[in-house]
Amino acid sequence: MEKTLSIIKPDGVGRGLIGEVLKRLEENSIKISAMKMLHLTKKQAEGFYAVHRERPFFNSLTDFMTSGPIVVMVLEGENVITDYRELMGATNFEEAAEGTIRKEFATSIEQNVVHGSDAPETAEFEIGYFFNSFEIIN
Ligand code: GDP
Repeated sequence: MEKTLSIIKPDGVGRGLIGEVLKRLEENSIKISAMKMLHLTKKQAEGFYAVHRERPFFNSLTDFMTSGPIVVMVLEGENVITDYRELMGATNFEEAAEGTIRKEFATSIEQNVVHGSDAPETAEFEIGYFFNSFEIIN
């Protein structure tokens, strides 16, 4: 079984899209193994997105990610990293496939509602960033 980290970003929480995202996970038989709500500090957001620190949008992205509460989840399934990224759609919602979360709900390349790990190594780092082993259902 593979695991991935999902985040409903501040725009998703603020616009009342938690239920919409959860519905899509459940409809696609993606198991939720952990879930909590957080409001990140700037330092916490910078640590999470450390791989992007040289990018021109780093400051704006970490400001956005601290602008309101987020929902973080551990998802589990056979190919859950790819399956969940398919549900999310491309980073840029204008290029995302029809029916994906980002295509339907994102309002900019930055405010794109959801995050999902992109590889097993990133998933491991990202899950460990938010959850300890006691918080993840086996
Ligand atoms: P993801 O894996 O699809 O989330 O995409 P990336 O890892 O490339 O980027 C992380 C996040 O940074 C994205 O989900 C967006 O919120 C934001 N982002 C990516 N590219 C841009 C950009 O060109 N401009 C801005 N402002 N934000 C971006």
